[in-house]
Amino acid sequence: MSGNENTQGMEKIVSLCKRRGFIFQASEIYGGLNGVWDYGPLGTDLKNNLKQYWWQVMVRERDDVVGLEGSILTHPAVLKASGHVDTFTDPMIDCRTCKARLRADQLTEKDAVKTCPNCGGKDLTEARPFNLMFQTQMGASADPASIAYLRPETAQSIFVKFRNVLDVSRKKLPFGIAQIGKAFRNEINPRNFTFRSREFEQMELEYFCRPEQGMDLLAYWLKERIKFYEEIGISRKRLHVLDVPEEERAFYSKGTFDIEYEFPFGRQELEGVAYRTDYDLQQHIKASGKPLDYFDEETKERFVPHVVEPSAGVDRTVLALICDAYDQDTAPDEKGKMETRVVMRFHPRMAPIKCAIFPLLRNKEALVAKAREVQALLRPHMNVFYDESGAIGRRYRRQDEIGTPFGVTIDFETLGEKGEEMRDTVTLRDRDSMKQERVAIKDLPEFISSRIRQNRAMTARTRLPSNS
Ligand code: ATP
Repeated sequence: MSGNENTQGMEKIVSLCKRRGFIFQASEIYGGLNGVWDYGPLGTDLKNNLKQYWWQVMVRERDDVVGLEGSILTHPAVLKASGHVDTFTDPMIDCRTCKARLRADQLTEKDAVKTCPNCGGKDLTEARPFNLMFQTQMGASADPASIAYLRPETAQSIFVKFRNVLDVSRKKLPFGIAQIGKAFRNEINPRNFTFRSREFEQMELEYFCRPEQGMDLLAYWLKERIKFYEEIGISRKRLHVLDVPEEERAFYSKGTFDIEYEFPFGRQELEGVAYRTDYDLQQHIKASGKPLDYFDEETKERFVPHVVEPSAGVDRTVLALICDAYDQDTAPDEKGKMETRVVMRFHPRMAPIKCAIFPLLRNKEALVAKAREVQALLRPHMNVFYDESGAIGRRYRRQDEIGTPFGVTIDFETLGEKGEEMRDTVTLRDRDSMKQERVAIKDLPEFISSRIRQNRAMTARTRLPSNS
């Protein structure tokens, strides 16, 4: 794709997200809040499907992982110990010509001279560190002792709760603590739609282990996480793994892989899988004086566990799901003339609505009653949508555009008017092939549920490395 096509691709996606209620600009009626987004009805369901599936495979289906929901407001001592207060910064530069505030790595370079990407100006300030944390005040007094931070990552609340969770869960190494929650970073230049936001959600696992298991577990979690993206329907060919070179890794990391996705605006990080050694626990031991170590009953050794961290962004993954699903093909309109169809090819597991239910005609009471019956039958199993307005072709098209994988039409055959053998059967339409087949109403829940589960059996969980 050319640069222009990429921009157009992104414009189409942003416009569809707004038009159909996936994602809106926050505080839009007041001019918008830069780098902050609201999820509409469909976006909320898509996001929830993603978070639930992550929780399902990372926590519920494993004996070795437990969950945590830490607070967002964080004691400054936690972030001082973790290094965020002193070093969680981006180098910032101001353009004296157009007053743009830029991240140093965003400058363009013309004939080895750095220029402002906004106005092309060369009159730039020196780079200075800008701390990305949001600071707030707790309580009524405004003295320095009342400072608190909105957490810049969910991970630190896991480290400071390591002892509590270990004591109550009685887990043995290796084991993990998982968390999904909000994080906040005062990004200098939020951009690329939701990709770089100031308020976002993370899905993080801190997987604690013995030091000698670290490198094998890093490889293990990289594999597991790639599989996850395949299971939610992201095409493998658009996923890339970057083995982060030592000079670009955090100084305490013995190995980091970035899982990247080919967005229309370029290849960018979705998730980091990092072997963080025992750095964080050691820092909190030093700063708090509390024993965040582990006693191995079998070997009678006491030591500070190491940790491997797969850290994914919810919003970035939702954006990747949307970009990956967006497609255009052609389909016949009401009169059989071919027209362009916008179709979101979400995997049924992620699709916000799994099945749309259409009575052929809205003014035929028996059709409507039967359609409402089908809706009631499917509702306990999945998110369905009832629609009786407009021509059936238009109704299909509206669902294609939001990625509903199945459409069920209740017609006169369903009522038994064209022969008893067709009574209580419906037309089931597949979004991608647009093929229609006749299915008995009673078989619908299992038929659709099996398609939602699809992709799972082939990709059974990998076994933990043998030394674990
Ligand atoms: P980047 O280099 O893109 O700023 P990072 O390496 O600082 O990201 P991490 O600190 O490793 O990111 O955070 C883990 C994950 O959290 C990222 O892979 C990403 O999915 C998500 N994330 C981080 N910053 C943002 C942001 N500003 N907006 C949305 N998601 C984010």
